[in-house]
Amino acid sequence: MTKKLYYDDVYQTEFSSKVIKSNHDESGFFVVLQETAFYPTGGGQPFDKGTLNDINVLKVEEVDGEIRHYMETSIDVEEVNGVIDWDRRFDHMQQHAGQHILTAAFEDNLGYKTLSFHLGEEICTIDLDTSSLTDEEIHKAETLANKIILENRPILIKWVEKKEELSGLPLRKELAVSEHIRLVIIPEYDYNGCGGTHPRSTGEVSLLKILTCEKQKKYTRVQFVCGGRVTRQLHQKNEVIQTLTTQLSARQDMIPNAVLKLLHHTKELEEQVKDLSNKLIRYEVKERLDNAVKWNGFFLISNIFQDRTLSELQTLARDLIAYPDVIVMFITEHQEKLQLVCARSDNTNINMNSVLKEVLPLINGKGGGKPFFVQGGGDRMLPPDQVMKELMRVLTHQV
Ligand SMILES: [Zn+2]
Repeated sequence: MTKKLYYDDVYQTEFSSKVIKSNHDESGFFVVLQETAFYPTGGGQPFDKGTLNDINVLKVEEVDGEIRHYMETSIDVEEVNGVIDWDRRFDHMQQHAGQHILTAAFEDNLGYKTLSFHLGEEICTIDLDTSSLTDEEIHKAETLANKIILENRPILIKWVEKKEELSGLPLRKELAVSEHIRLVIIPEYDYNGCGGTHPRSTGEVSLLKILTCEKQKKYTRVQFVCGGRVTRQLHQKNEVIQTLTTQLSARQDMIPNAVLKLLHHTKELEEQVKDLSNKLIRYEVKERLDNAVKWNGFFLISNIFQDRTLSELQTLARDLIAYPDVIVMFITEHQEKLQLVCARSDNTNINMNSVLKEVLPLINGKGGGKPFFVQGGGDRMLPPDQVMKELMRVLTHQV
């Protein structure tokens, strides 16, 4: 079994070791070492990265009781020099220890147990056993967590051989193993069975910030970051604020107000545009009626448009057939699609549904409606004027 150097000294970044096995599995080429400083995925903490003999270690997993170092390219050597990516490891140590501290703050102060923990690439989450969380509670937990960090309490590791030796210790959760147990202890604050890597004191977590709390069905997901990630988050958010400050010409504290004003203004403009287009359509209705073609005793208004919306044409058609003896045949062309609106006044009895149904198959289309008002659409398989000819041909049979 590989000796786990990260349990002797979590700060060890370089080592050399004999290779005891090299092989392939579905994840690629891997080596197993006599000893390693590479932490494999486990206990909610992602694996370490780094190099073995300057070749990248892509991931490290514990499979069938052995720690497999998956390599970018295969190597055939008896001994290797290993270097772990310390920035990545230390970040994981900060997040992991921060999670212990935050979990304890929520549980001991507010009675909310942590159900699960996820250490993501950018953000960490814990799921709390509660369906609601107030701003005050969030603030309370965050403040306590940062107090524990600032107090720079030791984070101690203690190995215990048998479960029985643990009686009297206020362990936070059920242990996953029953012997050779590793305890992570922040004295008088948190007692946990845990196999992950942690810094030697809470001060190294540096800072903890809760970002959002999201209500799920039966629990609440708390997003947070620790250590270097807090600075990164602050930097990202600051950039967003700087951009908004310039774009909105508003001080940081006035941004919410400026956005509200902008939204309100947009809504007003939208209403004005709607109002104006309605007015415009009324003019268009008049003009189209004046220019309507006399056809079999009807006023026929047939047009082919480019890029007019279906809803615009529906409004126009509806206003036109408010007049008696009107037949409307509209086609609008947009990119490779055709849309059709066919309508007639109340005082006529042509069935527009049967007109449309006969023409739609020609453009692989779909549509329908009431006998006096139908709409549909399909592909531009024929030029629009030919589709119009077809509509008129079918219409003639109906009259
Ligand atoms: Zn831990």
